[in-house]
Amino acid sequence: MLDPTPRVANDPKSAKINLTAGTGVEIEWKDGHRSSYTFPFLRDACPCALCDDEREKSGRKPGEPPKLAPGALPMFKAAAKALSVEQVGKYAIRFAWNDNHDLGIYSWAYLREICPCGECGAGGQVSGG
Ligand SMILES: [Zn+2]
Ligand SMILES: [Zn+2]
Repeated sequence: MLDPTPRVANDPKSAKINLTAGTGVEIEWKDGHRSSYTFPFLRDACPCALCDDEREKSGRKPGEPPKLAPGALPMFKAAAKALSVEQVGKYAIRFAWNDNHDLGIYSWAYLREICPCGECGAGGQVSGG
């Protein structure tokens, strides 16, 4: 359920979406924190019911790539790329992906939650060194 009163920390001060370069999304939050996401990460973190369901079944966290079945050969798959992005109200953005998927609405709060930086730790452990 969406919180009708947005919290300041979940608001971006600036958001840069590098559609042309295809490098991903960079967000600077109002509390000074910076997040950067690659497009494949965001695609694997798609918050729509379909992807959410799929992740739940395979026990993946948002942003985690699908695991290969034991013994399966990795199949070539074009890297996920956003073709366009649109703002949804004041609280979210929506991507149209190169695999024709565009159901996920990424709220700023959600993006903050899945921040893959070492500090937030959503993207797994950062190996030292
Ligand atoms: Zn989805
Ligand atoms: Zn972070």
